[in-house]
Amino acid sequence: MALYVHKYGGTSVGDISRIKNVAERIHKARQRGDDVVVVVSAMSGETNKLVALAQAVQERPNPREMDVLLSTGEQVTIALLAMALQERGCPAVSYTGWQVRILSDASHTKARIEDIDTDEIIADLACGKVVVVAGFQGVTEDGDITTLGRGGSDTTAVALAAVLKADECLIYTDVDGVYTTDPRVEPRARKLDRITFEEMLEMASLGSKVLQIRSVEFAGKYNVPLRVVSSFVEGSGTLISYEEVGVEKALISGIAFNRDEAKLTVQGVPDRPGIASKILGPIADANIEIDMIVQNVAEDQTTDFTFTVNRGDYKKAMEILENTTKELGAKHVKGDDKIVKVSIVGVGMRSHAGIASKMFDALAREGVNIRMISTSEIKISVVVDEKYLELAVRTLHEAFGLEQSE
Ligand code: ADP
Ligand code: ASP
Ligand code: MG
Repeated sequence: MALYVHKYGGTSVGDISRIKNVAERIHKARQRGDDVVVVVSAMSGETNKLVALAQAVQERPNPREMDVLLSTGEQVTIALLAMALQERGCPAVSYTGWQVRILSDASHTKARIEDIDTDEIIADLACGKVVVVAGFQGVTEDGDITTLGRGGSDTTAVALAAVLKADECLIYTDVDGVYTTDPRVEPRARKLDRITFEEMLEMASLGSKVLQIRSVEFAGKYNVPLRVVSSFVEGSGTLISYEEVGVEKALISGIAFNRDEAKLTVQGVPDRPGIASKILGPIADANIEIDMIVQNVAEDQTTDFTFTVNRGDYKKAMEILENTTKELGAKHVKGDDKIVKVSIVGVGMRSHAGIASKMFDALAREGVNIRMISTSEIKISVVVDEKYLELAVRTLHEAFGLEQSE
């Protein structure tokens, strides 16, 4: 008998009729003879509401208590889904993360799964039950509730599929697969039948929130067959796999973007060894992640140093930088939190020259000014002004011939 892990995101369980629709889908899978473990998210909007409630009480909510709060969203949906399944005559049982014992480290609000106890799940499956597990949550060795970072239910599903050695992990969502870019920004985006783990990981890291980054990392590491499908329409979705065969021989597979960026520049920094670490050290010590870094060629023994951070960390990074700059004797600090990052991704880039110039030409033709550039083997990212995001994505989508054939 085949074992599947299904994951249903917030929109797919957004109201009672949708929860019933999910129950119907699972019931059908059971009737086909499949064993099913289901992971669900909170109903759409619920996690955001909980975050807002916490912030209304504490400016920087206590991380332990935040996790106690955030984990409640998923607890509602597991119970409702188990009830909807039972109503259909389909035996089902729900478990929170700590009931399963999804053991995680103690880094609250962004915990990592370390181990999963599968005994009870296996026993329930053997009794013919559907097991419904709360996504996005775990428990520490000491019994504290943790959450796995936004979008974390994807990771719960993949981790369960890995430990249970499921035949496939199906991520049911509100789109019918992974597209060449977010269809909300470019309606002409094309659904991909397959994408490699490597490319999907790059797309997710560069801002495509269709899958949480860690879920793709996990699936790649444990070779979990992963498929993104719609919970509303039938279809085979997008398979994320190792093989590059069958991946259309495109130079570029997709375009990712991240609206959540901000950049900071220190001007007139003395050009001597150790400066980069003096500037970035205190930022890293404050647990702020740094993304792109650019240092200009020095003129008159001074240089400019620019880096990007998550927009949410902008103010804090600026405060830290202003202090460091005084100590370093740099001239001026400036920043911009109205910038975005747009990236093209594709394994085809490895064997082809001229992709970067094609990208820059296309953007120049539309008058999109590039503020920063960074490249790796299979991606090129540019930082542009926020107002150009849609234009840049659509321009590149067309320049690389990614649209659907009509
Ligand atoms: P869920 O609530 O099911 O977890 P998400 O909102 O996390 O759903 O992810 C699905 C959304 O991801 C889609 O509605 C779409 O707007 C967005 N998205 C971003 N990039 C892509 C892409 N390349 N392909 C498909 N969807 C994408
Ligand atoms: N409910 C959580 C969130 O909104 C986890 C998830 O949906 O994957 O981020
Ligand atoms: Mg999601």
